[in-house]
Amino acid sequence: MRRSIFLGLFQLALLSLLALAPVAASADNSIESVRVWPSPDKTRVVFDLKSAPDYSYFTLYGSDPLRLVIDFNNTGLDTALDNLGNDSLLLDLIRTSTPKSTGSTRIVIELNEKSEPQIFPLPANESYPNRLVVDLPGKSVERSGPAKSISELNDRKVTIAIDAGHGGEDPGSVGPTGSYEKTVVLKIARALASLINADPGMQAYLIRSGDYYVDLNERPQKAWQAKADFFVSIHADAFRTPQPRGGSVWVLSKRRADSEVGRWLEGTERKSELLGGAESIIKDTGHEPFLAQTLLDMSMDSSIAGAYAAARHIIGEMSAVTKMHKREPQAASFAVLKSPDKPSLLVETGFISNPTEERLLNSNAHQQKLARAVYKGIRQYFVNNPLDNTYLAKHSNSEYTVKSGDSLSVIAERYGTTVSAIKRENDLRSSVLRIGQKLKIPSR
Ligand SMILES: [Zn+2]
Repeated sequence: MRRSIFLGLFQLALLSLLALAPVAASADNSIESVRVWPSPDKTRVVFDLKSAPDYSYFTLYGSDPLRLVIDFNNTGLDTALDNLGNDSLLLDLIRTSTPKSTGSTRIVIELNEKSEPQIFPLPANESYPNRLVVDLPGKSVERSGPAKSISELNDRKVTIAIDAGHGGEDPGSVGPTGSYEKTVVLKIARALASLINADPGMQAYLIRSGDYYVDLNERPQKAWQAKADFFVSIHADAFRTPQPRGGSVWVLSKRRADSEVGRWLEGTERKSELLGGAESIIKDTGHEPFLAQTLLDMSMDSSIAGAYAAARHIIGEMSAVTKMHKREPQAASFAVLKSPDKPSLLVETGFISNPTEERLLNSNAHQQKLARAVYKGIRQYFVNNPLDNTYLAKHSNSEYTVKSGDSLSVIAERYGTTVSAIKRENDLRSSVLRIGQKLKIPSR
């Protein structure tokens, strides 16, 4: 009895399926490729599609393995899913499963832990076709590189948040021989972090520590979470013609930029969000949360003044190691610079669109020189504007005790001063130091 009811239901279900199924099902859309970008706090999966996705999804978190299921309606699969996601700690496997209707594709993402997915489409642009972006929050890679994690930061040191521009889906500018800005600036950012962490009064926090994209509004938020005292974003310029070259340093303007290069850069920042895949710009919600809060906040003005002062120090140091495009700080309205509570600036290390500078930017020696110039400029700023209760406030304008391995030139470099200035301040006639000797460090 029981059995026949089941059979009857089954037959009924089969009949209705047959009645609903189209005679010749063919997919209008197709998945052309899939990319996986793991980062310290999420894994992003990007599906490239021939046209805008028609999709739905659900999670199966009550069973093992944990699964996110995405149905692409009326969509074929034109790419292999082998070996995707192997680099992510969060993601175990991406595979297909029986689709819910003919001509559709069901993608199953198996996860190692529960994650509330954020899924949003992105329209086609000059670099990518239509995309469906799946963000899966959760630790996906170990933080790598020389910078510390938030829990390792010491509150007696000045914390510098270093933001390597672009990343992941967004390559940034591309040089004439194909170098990516995102790769070059990450190398400079890591070199800068190493120099900062070697300084007894400073420590670095890398906003981006690998090849993945971080939304522009999230970058100042991450600096705020790390309680950073300073924010520096590292970029390499590009222009539509190959001639311009040289570095420049940018601070926030509350108005639009008034130079052609400034307006060009503001445009590329917006393009970066479209390439990198920012949910906020697509939904158009709270695109400028920091700015809204900031316009009423007088502290923004002092942060901008601090940024100008630091920019001048950095320009002074950069001029010694590279050609400068501009010798005065430039102002533009960049989302990444909108932290109300700390000096924030953006360093354009050179024009990657200029063949000579593309070659330089790829050289390790030049990357190190640029990183050292930025480090020295930031250090000078904090020596001149010490923060209460920090190591630099206690040590920078007073005494230094000579340790094994020190030389006058090393000490001078560390404090952003010169050998002759230290000799003058301490009435030294020779450069020979002894361990334990006290030196007065001149303020600049
Ligand atoms: Zn850039």
